Amino acid sequence: MTPFYIAGRPASSDDAVEIRHPYDGRPVGATSNATPEQVEEAVAAAAAVAAAAAALPASARAAALDHVSARLKERADEVARLITAENGKPLKWARGEVSRAVSTFRWAAEEARRFSGAVQRLDTDPAATGRIALVKRVPRGPVLGIAPFNFPLNLVAHKVAPAIAVGAPIVLKPAPATPLSALLLGEILAETDLPAGMWSIVPIPNDRAPALVADPRLPVVSFTGSGPVGWQIRDAVPRKHVTLELGGNAAVVVCEDWDDLDWAASRIATFSNYQAGQSCIAVQRVYVHERHYDALADRLVAAVEAQRTGDPGDEATDVGPLISEDAAKRVEAWVSEAVAAGAKLLTGGARDGAAYAPTVLAEAPAESKVVTEEVFGPVLVLARVACDADGFAAVNASQYGLQAGVFTRRLDRAFEAHRVLDVGGVIVGDAPSYRADQMPYGGAKASGVGREGLASAMADYTEERVMVLTGL
Ligand code: NAD
Repeated sequence: MTPFYIAGRPASSDDAVEIRHPYDGRPVGATSNATPEQVEEAVAAAAAVAAAAAALPASARAAALDHVSARLKERADEVARLITAENGKPLKWARGEVSRAVSTFRWAAEEARRFSGAVQRLDTDPAATGRIALVKRVPRGPVLGIAPFNFPLNLVAHKVAPAIAVGAPIVLKPAPATPLSALLLGEILAETDLPAGMWSIVPIPNDRAPALVADPRLPVVSFTGSGPVGWQIRDAVPRKHVTLELGGNAAVVVCEDWDDLDWAASRIATFSNYQAGQSCIAVQRVYVHERHYDALADRLVAAVEAQRTGDPGDEATDVGPLISEDAAKRVEAWVSEAVAAGAKLLTGGARDGAAYAPTVLAEAPAESKVVTEEVFGPVLVLARVACDADGFAAVNASQYGLQAGVFTRRLDRAFEAHRVLDVGGVIVGDAPSYRADQMPYGGAKASGVGREGLASAMADYTEERVMVLTGL
């Protein structure tokens, strides 16, 4: 049985949890849930070590992060296979996730070396002549990290790495369906010299998570997951520093000037289906200038049909199963509802257990769930727009605002999109699903509050403390 980690040490309990492969249901590993007493030990240790953790030299924090990066790289094949086994994402995407986690830890090490404060002059006011301010950033306190199932390693890395980088203890709660990748990361973290208590990884069932969220010894909550849970957390602890990385129904606009429809079709088809659409920035809505609509629709259907579905353990598979049969049934119901309301099914629309076929819909009514909600499945919704500005307006006509893609080569269009789109990121010349792990990443509106990305998360986990020197 894979251990979990309390204050950096392996632990287990009698409350066993079996993890099954989403593709065929076979058992792929087991761990156990941390007991309330073990969770208490983890939180108490995090609180006890907070001052010592904040005082750790940058060299020690960076060395630990570099070690994790190097060891993940060494064990990349094993880690990728574990991600595929517990999450069901195709091996090639799992390999991509591991390589991103390698770079997430490496960037965190670099940022830890750079992370500094500022000197501010105050003598712009004659009354402050002779005074100067030193501004340093201090950890707000121990962090509670809560991670989703869809990137069971790299989104855990995005909580743990910045915490170590700033010297903040972290208690990490992995998603119940996918704890094993996080626990393998724990095995590697246990090889470092980080002080006991600085990190814990505690699998617990969802009904025990609210007590952890409410614990006053964890003043920072960094949550990635679904909107209803995220906003409920924020409402439950209004005095805590809460970051929410939530869902979306990411859109792309193919503008009038765009000249490479093959590239657009291939990128949109790939990134509506990667991880079976279970990414918060998977392409869901596609707004195409009427000049290109028919030609792009044909190419898109062909590109989507070319996606290879099947066993995610097969190196050639593009699209594997969803996380569960229930998840696939929900997607099936939403597509059927849209079709019943008048949407045209251009391809796909079939379910086999937890697998859902890559699907393209056109002319879905604006109020159908496949347009307004987060599908979190391999479904594209195509719509024709009369001009680029209408496309931008359609992107914004959503409760969500994580990232948007804009296929244009015109600089003025790109700047316009950046100005008018109410999202956390605009990806020009590609699908909205691009993320570099060092860049600020997060959403507007119902997609969340705050930003991840190493430097942004480090700023988030800390606050400024000023010292004014007088008489200089
Ligand atoms: P989820 O909300 O069901 O679970 C996320 C985490 O919250 C899990 O660890 C879960 O155990 C925990 N949780 C559940 N109930 C809780 C409660 N009451 N209190 C505290 N924690 C609780 O989400 P999921 O299904 O694992 O992930 C999919 C969602 O995550 C999608 O909506 C997706 O868009 C979103 N997501 C967002 C980003 C981003 O960076 N914006 C990235 C990946 C996934």
